Amino acid sequence: MTTPFSFTLAATDGGARLGRVETPHGGVETPAFMPVGTQGSVKAMLHRDVEAAGAEIVLGNTYHLFLRPGDELIQRRGGLHRFIGWERPMLTDSGGFQIFSLAERRVIREEGAEFQSHLDGSTHVLTPERAVDIQSRLGADIAMVLDECLAYPATRDAAAASMQRSARWAQRCRDRFMATHNAALTGVVPSTPGQAQFGIVQGGVFQDLRDESVAALTGIGFEGYAIGGLSVGEPSEVMYAIAGETARQLPVDQPRYLMGAGTPADLVECVARGIDMFDCVMPTRNARNGQLFTSQGRINIRNARYAEDDRPLDPACGCGTCARHSRAYLRHLYMAGEMSAATLNTVHNLSYYLDTMRRIRDAIALRTFDTFRQGFLRSASRLALDS
Ligand SMILES: [Zn+2]
Repeated sequence: MTTPFSFTLAATDGGARLGRVETPHGGVETPAFMPVGTQGSVKAMLHRDVEAAGAEIVLGNTYHLFLRPGDELIQRRGGLHRFIGWERPMLTDSGGFQIFSLAERRVIREEGAEFQSHLDGSTHVLTPERAVDIQSRLGADIAMVLDECLAYPATRDAAAASMQRSARWAQRCRDRFMATHNAALTGVVPSTPGQAQFGIVQGGVFQDLRDESVAALTGIGFEGYAIGGLSVGEPSEVMYAIAGETARQLPVDQPRYLMGAGTPADLVECVARGIDMFDCVMPTRNARNGQLFTSQGRINIRNARYAEDDRPLDPACGCGTCARHSRAYLRHLYMAGEMSAATLNTVHNLSYYLDTMRRIRDAIALRTFDTFRQGFLRSASRLALDS
């Protein structure tokens, strides 16, 4: 079958790439940031606010959706897009990361991961094949392979064994994914024909293992490639170096996705090293904790200094929160525990992230990315967190 998924590289500026991903639910300009919609909802946000902030694609978490309300229920509702009422592109992770970080108990075997739900303790087994089937029923535009997520720090031997197992699982995921094009083989009818599948490069902080992983995954062949197992506690410089060297070896004509990163400065630094796609809970989670990103540095809105501050959060921001409300009011809402505090703060943080990506794309198009990058990092380092 032909897949409507494609990637077009429009321009480069140094290592930075300007491109466009096409999916069954429309296009995504890259470099792109994907807000995390864990339960089929970006926390504290309405979809229309996520769209207004400029998000062209959101991420859903397979682990959560599989446990509740269940992939089969979602498929009976017409798939994830129809169920949640989001018409733009979506990506689902494989569930592996949450099994490693959330599940009550887990046993990893060659066959797959056995774990107990954090909701009710029920026991489940997620194999590579099952991860593909679940994501096929959910029907996001991009599905991820099941990989083994390693704790940081890990020894080289542990990282090597984990990377090799992830490569074997990637092959099983690809075999199953190709078989789902023929429902008679798997019994699974994909909710979204034309779904793409990305492989995930592992190997910890060991570049030779990363190289081996890239060779294995590109040998299998996927529509795009993610770099996993970074942004897990290693120093920024290590993440940048591994992401950059790994990206350099990935196919030029396919998208590269750095999973789980990061701060605004991480995004700029990793775009400089050839990354096209990002996701992170940081803008949404920090917003709910009162930590706000602005062009003038980070603001902790709980700080008493904002109690009578009539300025907007960020005078340079065009979001609805900054257009209408003062720091004093946002602090009041936060201190009073109002639900609107989470919403207004998340509107701003997501707008800041997505506007940063827009400025990155504009700079690459104008071939002024390095100037943009230097200015961005100067302001980020000059203005540390205010509390
Ligand atoms: Zn704003």
